[in-house]
Amino acid sequence: MSSEITNATKISATNTLGRMSDLGHEQIVFCNDPNTGLKAIIAIHSTLLGPSLGGTRMWQYASEEEALMDVLRLSRGMTYKAAVSGLNLGGGKAVIIGDSRKDKSEMLFRKFGQFVESLGGRYITAEDVGINVQDMEFVAMETKFVSGTPIFAGGSGDPSPFTALGVWSAMRACLEEVFGSEEVSGKKVLVQGVGHVGSALVDILVQKGAEVSVSDIFEDKLAAIQQRHKVKVINPKQVYATECDIYAPCALGATLNTENIRRLHCAIICGAANNQLKDEIVHGEMLQDRNILYAPDFLVNAGGIINIDAERYGYNADRARSNCEKIYERTKKIIDLAQEQKITTHKAAILLAEERLHDVAVLNKSSAHF
Ligand code: NAD
Repeated sequence: MSSEITNATKISATNTLGRMSDLGHEQIVFCNDPNTGLKAIIAIHSTLLGPSLGGTRMWQYASEEEALMDVLRLSRGMTYKAAVSGLNLGGGKAVIIGDSRKDKSEMLFRKFGQFVESLGGRYITAEDVGINVQDMEFVAMETKFVSGTPIFAGGSGDPSPFTALGVWSAMRACLEEVFGSEEVSGKKVLVQGVGHVGSALVDILVQKGAEVSVSDIFEDKLAAIQQRHKVKVINPKQVYATECDIYAPCALGATLNTENIRRLHCAIICGAANNQLKDEIVHGEMLQDRNILYAPDFLVNAGGIINIDAERYGYNADRARSNCEKIYERTKKIIDLAQEQKITTHKAAILLAEERLHDVAVLNKSSAHF
């Protein structure tokens, strides 16, 4: 194993981390390899429920600090996602700093795989924004701690269609709550980001008869979806001001900020993007005040991880699909809890996740007696 790997740095104190240490991460690893150009950060938020699992994102961050913030927030979200979904997995995530259209190479991903391997299974990786199954095959050449690998290689394949199914299941619960019926036919749904999940969600929505419009920053993504369906294209700058019944964020996070929320013309927000609320408290409350039903992202987008988790028990796609559909009941439960306790839906989902984390911690303490 190369010296870069053994020197993988467990960091403790910079300004950013000082602020972010409130999030309670167990371990953060910076991965640098000048030979391949790899610059990555792996964040393990919690392994209380099991090995931390979360995708790797490749993005051209404006700064290393921005990448760090992203991975810290995303990995914490994974802890809550697994907890609220009843999975025995912890929360982790990785980011590779770079342009996914220009900077990819076999050796870069294999080096990243070596860093993942060096963590001995405390972190299991998968796909996220900017990463595809082929990239993960390179990672898998160096580590066994990879999930979501192709079906022919013994994995469960691309998790995105399962994530989309989970989002659709949550959407049904939201439609029922707001419009009294889960019928989406004739409803206007705006899907922001038509990548892996967004495009699979569009497939479902069109098939169910929704009036779908889409937005993306890349022409080729729009062209691909327009080849399959007659959908209206919205300029990325017009997304928030566009009138619709459901806004489905399926691009990057933090789109629900003070400025955008003021402009929204929708009744429901339900999409796959992680960390949609820029500030979980302030923006959760702003949405509640505007009477917009927000389906908490980490609850809604758990389909992918539910599918990946199924690999651990002898993969069966039908069972994974039916587990993804349970997001419908969970969403209803969280909407009800939020109403009962007069709290935001986001807070209600956090409460349920924290309750399970607490219960497992107590269980582990008491099983130490055996
Ligand atoms: P992807 O990279 O395949 O797709 C993202 C799409 O968003 C791309 O087409 C990109 O061009 C577009 N985009 C980026 N910025 C945009 C903007 N400002 N406006 C419009 N479009 C924009 O990624 P994905 O795998 O589809 O994931 C989408 C989101 O869902 C991410 O936030 C990811 O973390 C989350 N998520 C994905 C999965 C999964 O199974 N893939 C699971 C859980 C959560």
